Amino acid sequence: MSGKRIPPGGAIGELDLLRDIRTRALTAGRRSSVRVGIGDDCALLGLRAGEEVAVTTDLSIAGRHFRLEWHPPQSVGHRTLARGLSDLAAMGARPMAAFLSLGIPRQLTVRNRRGPSWVDGFFEGLLRLSAQHQAPLAGGDLAESPVALADIVLIGAVPVGRGLRRSGAGPGDLVYVTGSLGGAAAGLAKLAGSKTKYSSLRWTHFYPQPRISQGLALQRRRLATAGMDLSDGLSTDLAHLCEESGVSAVVQSELLPVARRASLEQALHGGEDYELLFTAPSTVRMPRSLGGIAITRIGHITRRLPGKPPVMIATGSRMEALAPSGWQHFRPQAMDPAQGSKRRGV
Ligand SMILES: [Mg+2]
Repeated sequence: MSGKRIPPGGAIGELDLLRDIRTRALTAGRRSSVRVGIGDDCALLGLRAGEEVAVTTDLSIAGRHFRLEWHPPQSVGHRTLARGLSDLAAMGARPMAAFLSLGIPRQLTVRNRRGPSWVDGFFEGLLRLSAQHQAPLAGGDLAESPVALADIVLIGAVPVGRGLRRSGAGPGDLVYVTGSLGGAAAGLAKLAGSKTKYSSLRWTHFYPQPRISQGLALQRRRLATAGMDLSDGLSTDLAHLCEESGVSAVVQSELLPVARRASLEQALHGGEDYELLFTAPSTVRMPRSLGGIAITRIGHITRRLPGKPPVMIATGSRMEALAPSGWQHFRPQAMDPAQGSKRRGV
């Protein structure tokens, strides 16, 4: 989207926009699995021998997953793709291609004297991250819509039978996370509580980094028994992992890698950190870091005890249930983090 063809004050037509996106998508992913990308009726992707396909989809809606008045358009584009990439990372899959359906109000396509349009910024953020992870945009759809929404589909590849599942954890396994927890929630709380839009504290929330190389390393080195990404908060996501594996877990609060300036509460329940949560037998020598990102043991897996909550938290000698308190759609809950409640779905 060079901006040369569209005069200031003009909305970008659909065809112009598609042409711009096609040019930029091509330059964003030369070394890729995409044999045929944008421009034909379907994209054609090339798999390597012995691989199977990993597919994930994520919907981002203005007013629910982002706010036009809070999030820079580059952040919205980045986060849209990051959510899908994080799911590929969780499975230990290598990214192949991304597909985007985008609905936006007409005014978000208008360029003015002050600079590019909202949609220009959106694609700048999305394509920058796509280039970093060799996940080129290989197709999609574009429509005028009363509300901005972006639906992303990510296609990845993983050796047959080697995808990291949620269901593989067993009693005695240790529980690990990558990076630190609560940073995105702390950033969002600041965003809601202040008029200053861009500070470094918000960076984690605006630009989460999907742990693609860490997920690939866990898969290739066969380090983990189960894994998933942390999108809805540790308390909620660990309960999901326990459910799928038919086990329980104990988290030790003093071991949690709480992000700088985040609270323990935010580390336990805040969503959108997009770190990896995984388990491994205690006999595995886990590296202290993978690709420069710290790996921290936070607890262990136990047998599922009937009638007991799936996740417990230990603080010193005190042990209590860790109720899933992350974001759940369709559950009555306050949406505004400024009011001290859940951090997903801003
Ligand atoms: Mg996920």
